[in-house]
Amino acid sequence: MRAAIEEALKGLKEGGVPIGAVLVEDGKIIGRGRNKRVQQGDQLMHAEIDCLRNARLTGGYHNTILYSTLMPCYLCAGAIVQFGIKKVVVGESNSAPEASDFMESHGIEVVNLDMKECRELMERYISENRTLWNEFLSELNPDLLMPSGVKSKSLSDNTSAYP
Ligand SMILES: [Zn+2]
Repeated sequence: MRAAIEEALKGLKEGGVPIGAVLVEDGKIIGRGRNKRVQQGDQLMHAEIDCLRNARLTGGYHNTILYSTLMPCYLCAGAIVQFGIKKVVVGESNSAPEASDFMESHGIEVVNLDMKECRELMERYISENRTLWNEFLSELNPDLLMPSGVKSKSLSDNTSAYP
């Protein structure tokens, strides 16, 4: 998780969204990535996708563990299911909890370390980049922004999504 946080901090230095991920096999990091939504102007370049891209292309992912500084979104959860990754460890799930059940329904073990450091990293980024963040949110499926029970929440209060 320390390496994933380092990736997130690298992204922050680049002016990007501070989300990092690493893929581990037999205790060794075989891929690293960070969200490059801002750096590359690519809304699909999430930390987990970048990480999988940077990991080896052959050999399968069945014995790997994906570490991410926050709970993967549906895009990344789909990739995790697609490639047969069996375990996901996250730093926090406050900002994007929805896809956890989806991964678990596919037999993936999801571990939430609930780290203050990871939560604060995102909270600070969102509060300092509110306009940009709202732009990102406007790209998303509105159903994801208003989970049942919080329908009265205004968009600008919402942190439960990915850029
Ligand atoms: Zn994602």
